[in-house]
Amino acid sequence: MKLIDGKAVAEELKNALKQDVSEYKQKTGRVPHLAAILVGDNPASMAYVGNKVKSCEHVGFKSTLISLGSDITEEQLHEEITKLNQNPDVDGFIVQLPLPPQINEVTVTLAIDYRKDVDGFHPVNFGRMAQGLPCFLPATPYGITMLLDRYNIETAGKHVVVVGRSNIVGTPISILLSRKTKMGDATVTLAHSRTKELQKLLLQADIIIAAIGIPGFIQEDMVKQGAVVIDVGINRVEDDHHEKGSKLVGDVDFEHVKEKCSFITPVPGGVGPMTVMGLLMNTYKSANKEIYP
Ligand code: NDP
Repeated sequence: MKLIDGKAVAEELKNALKQDVSEYKQKTGRVPHLAAILVGDNPASMAYVGNKVKSCEHVGFKSTLISLGSDITEEQLHEEITKLNQNPDVDGFIVQLPLPPQINEVTVTLAIDYRKDVDGFHPVNFGRMAQGLPCFLPATPYGITMLLDRYNIETAGKHVVVVGRSNIVGTPISILLSRKTKMGDATVTLAHSRTKELQKLLLQADIIIAAIGIPGFIQEDMVKQGAVVIDVGINRVEDDHHEKGSKLVGDVDFEHVKEKCSFITPVPGGVGPMTVMGLLMNTYKSANKEIYP
């Protein structure tokens, strides 16, 4: 079994990006600028956004954090989005999800200018991705493909079973891996809560991608010997041995599954850091007008 060290890969890529940013600064006199809107005080969201801001500093980006109260109206949030859409100094921005119940996430996603949608959630980017056109790839699937690439894990002709069909992870990674491209050409099965005989399907998988949100869902008897397992899940569970009284685990029963795998990602330190990397790469591409000249 080989551990896929997402944290180390993200560090390597960040150091390379830092070099690119310094050259970009010499050429243009500015640095790429990522903004983030955080609504409310959800501890997980605050931690994710904090990480993104820290990563911006690491690579030399400018970052702006806009924190809004959880009682904000949809109209007020849209005003903030419009300001960022119109601000020529901002290359890309994200609205951290989830949002409070009074705010419709779909209309928020649609309100973001797709040319600044560095999370890759806007339907224009999603549609362009599906058709193989230049676009901002959704950050987590982008991060997963970078990881597979870095570890020379072949996807062509492989059977991939993705479990979970969200718009931000499961569905886009299934599209990306089945496209006729490098890190594509796989035969993909997209499974979800209505899938029948999931275990039988998973046992046929050369690569499993778990994006479910249920701790330890993928068990040892669901994984073929030698399979590659990518665990996207981030779940907080109680643990008396940790000082916080809780810890983060994935959707895979790591301790039991790992011995059967050729490669496996840990949680934390697997896909998570690569999601941030995907976001940084998209922002850099936006600053360079690489996707939308
Ligand atoms: P969602 O929570 O939106 O959806 C979960 C998916 O799992 C749904 O498609 C659901 O099926 C499916 N599912 C639920 N129960 C079962 C079951 N018993 N059998 C098969 N499928 C099932 O997914 P997200 O993609 O938003 O998040 C998934 C996990 O990934 C979470 O833990 C989240 O925290 C984490 N995450 C991690 C990121 C990272 O950077 N590492 C980034 C984004 C998310 P159905 O559609 O039928 O309801």
